[in-house]
Amino acid sequence: MRKNKYDSFEKYLRDLKNNGLFNNIKVIDSPMGPKIKTNGKWVLNLCSNNYLGLANDERLKKSAKQAIDKYGVGPAAVRSIAGTTSLHIELEKSLAKFKKVEDVITYQSGFNANIATIPALADANDTIFSDELNHASIIDGCRLSKAKIIRYKHADYKDLESKLKPLKGDHSKFKRFIITDGVFSMDGDIAPLDDIYKIARKHNCILIVDDAHGEGVLGKNGRGIVDHFGLHGKVDFEIGTLSKAFGAIGGFVAGKRLLIDWLRQRSRPFLFSSAMTAADVAASIESVKILSKSEKLVKKLWENTESFKAQILSLGFDIGKTQTPIVPIMIGDAKWARKFSSELFKEGVFAMAIGYPTVPIGKARIRVMISASHTTAHLGAALKAFEKVGKKLKII
Ligand code: PMP
Repeated sequence: MRKNKYDSFEKYLRDLKNNGLFNNIKVIDSPMGPKIKTNGKWVLNLCSNNYLGLANDERLKKSAKQAIDKYGVGPAAVRSIAGTTSLHIELEKSLAKFKKVEDVITYQSGFNANIATIPALADANDTIFSDELNHASIIDGCRLSKAKIIRYKHADYKDLESKLKPLKGDHSKFKRFIITDGVFSMDGDIAPLDDIYKIARKHNCILIVDDAHGEGVLGKNGRGIVDHFGLHGKVDFEIGTLSKAFGAIGGFVAGKRLLIDWLRQRSRPFLFSSAMTAADVAASIESVKILSKSEKLVKKLWENTESFKAQILSLGFDIGKTQTPIVPIMIGDAKWARKFSSELFKEGVFAMAIGYPTVPIGKARIRVMISASHTTAHLGAALKAFEKVGKKLKII
């Protein structure tokens, strides 16, 4: 018999601390901008997913405030029980138009969108083929569905196809799904969605892409990965988030009306959890308007990304195989990555060390997230700090 029922948790926490894996979360006292105030100090922010700088945009704030005045602060119920505001409908319609799909359903977060959608579609008779580096919310959604899960090698469509054995006999009673992140959040690489689509079509699979890090980043006006590959109308479900480039919080699923209708009837976070707040909905409507009208922010994001990557590479850092504004600075050992991050912080740069279990053991890194809101001076200061710390810790 254990002495204390909490013993095992104490041990887990001690182990995390001993292995440099205990996460001390910084407290922030400012908006999410290119600079943030933490521990009383203003530092350069290289951590947030505020790709387009919309999280503190005046236009979004104004819309959110107006929505609070009109609708109040809380939704106070789930939409299917107490009704839905016209604002929620407006957001879904404007997202559908932006994504060029028939319909959209919104959820409280991107995480919820995944754990809503996958179990509403798949059950114990079905099989899901899932990229081995898919996001935690996809993994949890797959587990909740009780479907058989077959992991394929990361971004390896040949491995995927080799696992999709031709079906024998009557297969009307089960479904097969392929699910992948669009942009992988820890490495910044893009899924080969064009090749994956061909395989999905050949084997009659339902194709789902989680485009959390592609929204506002890839495609024309930031329409996302489906637009990037010209696959409109071919991917069955695009799962998105409003919590990154769109600057607010929320999640959504875009696709054919019939399929979205099914999610409205059966997806559990829609039926059993309260809706997005009016302020977040209004801010998201504003983001979609801003993106639909102009490519300015998306272009600036990519200019910043290309410039930072070229310079960090010329300093001698390894940035893995990123193709997007997610720039992993590969360090290896988790303790060393934490040391690197704390040295950067002393230089006025907040860039998070990411270690196991978020990335595999031995692949710890500093993850730099580039934003359109960074100025040339911000990026210059960041590079200077990386050079100084890299030399001090003999990484470069
Ligand atoms: N999917 C992916 C691929 C993500 O990276 C994230 C956020 N880390 C989510 C879903 C969850 O999005 P949200 O923060 O809106 O819950």
